[in-house]
Amino acid sequence: LNNQYVAAANGVKIPQLGFGVYKITKQEEFERAIGEAIRLGYRHFDTAKIYGNEEALGREIQKSGVPREQFFITSKVWNTDHGYKAARKAFEKTIKKLNVDYLDMYLIHFASPHYVETWKAMEELYLEGKIKVIGVANFETQHLEHLMKHAKIPPMINQIETHPEFPQNELHEYLNKHGILHQAWAPLGQGNKALFENPELQRIARNHNKTVAQVILRWHLERGIIIIPKSSNPKRIKENSEIFDFALTGDDMETINRLNSGKRYAINPTGYIINP
Ligand code: NAD
Repeated sequence: LNNQYVAAANGVKIPQLGFGVYKITKQEEFERAIGEAIRLGYRHFDTAKIYGNEEALGREIQKSGVPREQFFITSKVWNTDHGYKAARKAFEKTIKKLNVDYLDMYLIHFASPHYVETWKAMEELYLEGKIKVIGVANFETQHLEHLMKHAKIPPMINQIETHPEFPQNELHEYLNKHGILHQAWAPLGQGNKALFENPELQRIARNHNKTVAQVILRWHLERGIIIIPKSSNPKRIKENSEIFDFALTGDDMETINRLNSGKRYAINPTGYIINP
């Protein structure tokens, strides 16, 4: 895997292709998928307290024999851990489960009440060197504005649902303007059939001798977006990593941009997005 890197505002380099571990819960499936991903050269892994697999991820990292510093590990503060003290406690539990002494990235999972106090804990942990990159997920412009008004250190990244049918054009531009990185969750629209059977995407894939999944992931890369596709199928895990050896044309990009339908495949599972 010949990854590319994107630098956060503080210069920390983030592998542009990562691996999301949401919903890989069975131990055997987890070991096979994450073991294979590490063998293929994936180093960036995205988990969260709520996914319930921080311990399992920690074990696979340990088992791999690859030095800890070569990994880029993300976890997230869950909605019930907001506030200064609770967030610090949640962080300690998370690194214990992952069996590491620092996190590469820590995100506020949703803009639930008291996220400003939570952010204070994250800023401190960052200044103590325990987190290399601090950021948020599922934040809309209003939440970002509110947070930045109260923050000493602005968020460095926002992880949001993004795929060709829901490209987040406006938020993408806002993030660019403020030097905040854009990370896509559900980069493949959660594998939705309508997307994978789209004739335009299939035509572009044929032209490049690639698959629809590879074309979609490449479209993200070319927008400068950091992606964390999920799969527990070793063949697909490999397929999703083979996206650094071709480029989409301007016409391809425009065609894919026209697939914007405002359709979200992945509805926020908690309904926790609220006004600041
Ligand atoms: P995704 O877009 O990565 O889709 C995953 C699904 O796509 C797989 O289950 C499979 O069905 C299909 N797929 C994968 N590779 C394929 C291929 N090569 N060909 C055909 N189908 C393929 O969706 P996701 O898992 O929801 O998102 C990725 C990651 O983002 C998660 O694992 C998680 O780490 C993160 N995430 C974060 C949030 C958040 O609130 N911050 C929410 C959801 C997910």
